[in-house]
Amino acid sequence: MADCIFCQIVRGERSAYKVYEDSDTLAFLDIFPLVEGHTLVIPKAHCERLQDLHPDLTAKVAHAVRAVTEKLEKALGAPATTIGINNGKAAGQVVPHLHIHILPRYENDGGGTIHSVVRTTTQRSLEEICHLIAKAR
Ligand code: 5GP
Ligand code: ZN
Repeated sequence: MADCIFCQIVRGERSAYKVYEDSDTLAFLDIFPLVEGHTLVIPKAHCERLQDLHPDLTAKVAHAVRAVTEKLEKALGAPATTIGINNGKAAGQVVPHLHIHILPRYENDGGGTIHSVVRTTTQRSLEEICHLIAKAR
C-alpha cells in the first residue's frame, strides 16, 4: 500500500535498521525501542492482521520470527524474549501492517508478562466459552 509506512520500508523508500530479510519477510529495529533490540518482523506483502495474511506465508513469517529470536538472544546475550502482536486497533495496533514484536528479556528487567496485558472480569464459564470458540467458522 502506497501510504503504509512499513510498505515504504519494504520498498526502500523509508529507512530502517534491518536485521533479517528473506524473499517474503523483513525484520527491522523498532524506531522507539522498549528495550535494546526491540525488533519488528513483517511479511513484505501488505496485510493488516494475522488472519489477513496469505496462508502460504504463515509458515514463512513463523520461520522469520524464530530466526530473528535466535539472532537477538545470541547477539545481545538475552536469556529470553517476549513475542507478541497487537492484532487489531482495539488491541493497540497503530501501524496497520501486520508486525510481530520481539522484545529481548532479562531476569529482573522490571518488565511484565503476557498476563499483564489485560485482565477483565469473566462472566461465562470456561465450558461455555470453549463451546463458542470451537463451533466458530
Ligand atoms: P503497534 O502498536 O502498531 O503494534 O506498533 C507499531 C510499532 O511501530 C511501534 O512500536 C512503533 O515504535 C514502531 N514504528 C512506528 N513507525 C515506525 C517507523 O517509521 N520505523 C520503525 N522502525 N518503527 C516504527
Ligand atoms: Zn503495508
